[in-house]
Amino acid sequence: MSQEQTKYILPESSIPTSWVNILPDLPGEPLPPLSPATGEPAGPDDLAAIFPMELIAQEMSTDPEIEIPEEVREIYRLWRPTPLIRARRLEKALDTPAHIYFKYEGTSPAGSHKPNSAVAQAYYNREAGIEKLVTETGAGQWGSALSMACQMFGIACEVFMVGISYDQKPYRRSMIETWGGTVHRSPSDLTEAGRSQASHPSGSLGIAISEAVEVAAGSGNANYALGSVLNHVCLHQTVIGQEAIEAMELAGEYPDVVVGCVGGGSNFAGLIYPFLRENLNNGRETRFLGAEPTACPTLTQGTYAYDFGDTVGMTPLMPMYTLGHDFVPPPVHSGGLRYHGDAPSLSALVKAGMVEATAVPQGAAFDAAVRFARAEGIIPGPEPAHALRAAFDEAEAAREAGEEKVILVGLSGHGHLDLSAYGAFLAGELEDLELPQDELDAALAGLPEAPSIA
Ligand SMILES: *Cc1c(COP(=O)(O)O)cnc(C)c1O
Repeated sequence: MSQEQTKYILPESSIPTSWVNILPDLPGEPLPPLSPATGEPAGPDDLAAIFPMELIAQEMSTDPEIEIPEEVREIYRLWRPTPLIRARRLEKALDTPAHIYFKYEGTSPAGSHKPNSAVAQAYYNREAGIEKLVTETGAGQWGSALSMACQMFGIACEVFMVGISYDQKPYRRSMIETWGGTVHRSPSDLTEAGRSQASHPSGSLGIAISEAVEVAAGSGNANYALGSVLNHVCLHQTVIGQEAIEAMELAGEYPDVVVGCVGGGSNFAGLIYPFLRENLNNGRETRFLGAEPTACPTLTQGTYAYDFGDTVGMTPLMPMYTLGHDFVPPPVHSGGLRYHGDAPSLSALVKAGMVEATAVPQGAAFDAAVRFARAEGIIPGPEPAHALRAAFDEAEAAREAGEEKVILVGLSGHGHLDLSAYGAFLAGELEDLELPQDELDAALAGLPEAPSIA
């Protein structure tokens, strides 16, 4: 019997005490967000109607590290540090000399990485005297994470849920309600934005964001919370990568390539930014590979430009890879990856060639997910299934080259509430949704007027 170690579990004392802020490390001149009203750089005042000052400060901070409040770390202790697992059985199944590790965020109460930021955001809003957070959710991962976090800090939570998910994914709705939050089907008739989009009854993340921002901006004691994209969200997620670095030390290895899935970019950013800093400061040469769906190929087929974060055009303009703010992605099962844009910080790194991106078809992602489940047991969420597919390709390349490459994959969540998609895949009924070029062109034609950054 081999006694080789499989799980690398850090003690609670290894939960990071600060987050890694990548902003001072970004290449080139910083590109500020622009006010949607004036087109001028947005200052703190432009954001103060919907965010607390502490989060606005994090959004713009040039400090390389930001301390994690003790009350936030106390809640992190409920599930952090998350495990790092050596996928030895998968390596055998793939017949690869590569060493494959995965960092598993599915052990959080909500089943994904999303609580890492939800808890921090609820904390800073409660500290600022806010009584309610309003947000959007796609498949329900972010809404459920925020509902849990709000409950823990004694504030209310109101969620606009993308219509098609509201209908098809009742269980995450029940999670939101179990943790005390309220849920509306978006587009709703509760907001101007929702009423203007009644002709898109299945909804989209961009529409739901417009509704949530409208409610938060129109209320004195409520704020808005976003689950991805923004700098402060990517910042909070860097607990993932910091723990991964320490756990890989226990394993006596260091990754040659780190792979993750990209929706708005927060789990991937949180995993890679601490490793990226090692590249910049300590001469490491790790590669970083983001995997996105071919049905929503922002990094691989989008344009690097200023665009709105929402459909209606109420948020500041952000410099990012985008498919156009009125692009409504086809209804693939990885709901968490259906967003028209990407985190500005990650976009800048892709633009500079410091981070690579690849697009994965839905069927290939599920094929990888099933093979992973049969080797390692864990049933991955459809989102990290895209990262697994990309990691398999890396492992195959390692076999062909006869290389003992070390691969680290971010497994951002489990798939227990996505089993209908697995059912469709196993029944051979899962379609690879093609994206017609004229649809892509049409959405990009709707980009707002703004200074060119490409
Ligand atoms: C929301 C979600 C994603 C995509 O969001 P990012 O901000 O890109 O991380 C990926 N995986 C899971 C499990 C999610 O819930």
